[in-house]
Amino acid sequence: MTEKWLHNDIADNVCWVEQAICDACAKAGRSREEVTLVGVTKTVEPERVNAALAAGLTHIGENYVQELLRKKPELQLDGVKLDLIGHLQTNKVKQIVGQVNTIQSVDSLRLATAISKASVAAGITSHVLVELNIGEEQSKTGLPKAEVAELLAQMAELPHIHVDGLMCIPPILDTETARRKVFSEMYQMFLDMRAKKLDNIDMNTLSMGMSSDFTEAILEGSTMVRVGTALFGHRPRKSM
Ligand SMILES: *Cc1c(COP(=O)(O)O)cnc(C)c1O
Repeated sequence: MTEKWLHNDIADNVCWVEQAICDACAKAGRSREEVTLVGVTKTVEPERVNAALAAGLTHIGENYVQELLRKKPELQLDGVKLDLIGHLQTNKVKQIVGQVNTIQSVDSLRLATAISKASVAAGITSHVLVELNIGEEQSKTGLPKAEVAELLAQMAELPHIHVDGLMCIPPILDTETARRKVFSEMYQMFLDMRAKKLDNIDMNTLSMGMSSDFTEAILEGSTMVRVGTALFGHRPRKSM
């Protein structure tokens, strides 16, 4: 009984987030098609993920390789894209290559090389985003701004790996002005890298904006928002 109520709740949330994205696009003078909603499903049981998919969500992201692989067979993924958005360790690369649409968290040449090698071995091309540590925070993964151009140039030489864009998790900032400034800086970086027209690199995805700030991210040029809490509620402290 509570289950049924939960499902309805998730459908309401999908509706609400969808409407908020439409509003943000309208405010930004952008078309709704320019922004992809990725539902972040870490710690969310497959049944509740499926409820969100039934409610119209078409793209989801998981943080942990083990959790993703465990849940994947239970998900109704027909016509749905599944990305890895969390930090990826080099020793897990072989397990994840071929299992997702996009790996959003490439932040070193070592990792990119491992993905390239595993993709060659599997006979596929892996699509990835390069993750930036835009706030240059010590505690966070992601590449410092100053190293992005060099990594992209190196990745352009790697076989069977294709960069689709950039991703970031910005620092927590108090004011809308400060948050928008960081998103705008990210957008500028995205345009600068796109202008380079490197091999194997199409800058068409800028993945930024989460539950608390996706409107601001869309106003500053985000093409992909990753929303967890606003769809599934607050997460338990520990991962599954
Ligand atoms: C958890 C997570 C999100 C979603 O965060 P919410 O605040 O719950 O919307 C987005 N991106 C990444 C990389 C995450 O780990």
